[in-house]
Amino acid sequence: KLVGEILTNAFKNINYKQKLELTQQQLITANQQLSELVNTDGLTNIANRRCFDQTIDDEIQRCVRYQQPISLLICDIDFFKKYNDSYGHQKGDEALKQVAETLQNLCKRPGDLAARYGGEEFAMLFQAKTEADAHVALNRLRLNVAQYPFPQIGQLTISIGFLELVSIDTVSSIVNQADLALYYSKNTGRNRVTSYSELEVNNEPKIDNSIELF
Ligand code: GH3
Ligand code: MG
Ligand code: MG
Repeated sequence: KLVGEILTNAFKNINYKQKLELTQQQLITANQQLSELVNTDGLTNIANRRCFDQTIDDEIQRCVRYQQPISLLICDIDFFKKYNDSYGHQKGDEALKQVAETLQNLCKRPGDLAARYGGEEFAMLFQAKTEADAHVALNRLRLNVAQYPFPQIGQLTISIGFLELVSIDTVSSIVNQADLALYYSKNTGRNRVTSYSELEVNNEPKIDNSIELF
């Protein structure tokens, strides 16, 4: 009888262990799905602002430490309110998805990250060997968007500001610099790419504060 009880308990224990392992695996999968959900933008399916903010600091420090070139861009769709007002929010949403996909396609290396920064603004961390290379890649991105046949309107453009990071700086300072370059692109006609270093060389960037942009 005793041997019978021992065997029954042993089988029960194996059963419990298997159930526990299954539950643990289900928990791991659920956690992964949750983490993906909180880090992904619901509309465009690329990273959201939360994910970007959490990644950018570590990525910058890693790249500067290992002397890997890294650039940050901020871009904004031009006259998007007019597009929405003319063709409706749904068409606007489709356009946002298309721009997001174009940006995502530029992310080739593991550390590259494209994110929806807010509304019709996107941010991206990407590696390019030199600032000139980054400029060429971003100009191609700008043209890709400008040449895409968006429904009805035919054309939608983006303005881009970017900088190549050469030393460790605070995230807010870096984002601010990319933003200044973006303002410059906006104020000098839109549908263009500006690097922060161009502003530094010009010393007095031609920013027209009379135009309310954001
Ligand atoms: P600018 O060239 O100066 O950037 O002009 P703009 O019209 O693009 O800028 P503005 O800030 O005036 O308008 C941004 C618009 O983006 C207004 C808002 O309705 C639209 N927008 C923001 N988020 C979404 C979204 O999730 N879906 C859609 N369809 N539109 C959005
Ligand atoms: Mg805009
Ligand atoms: Mg905007």
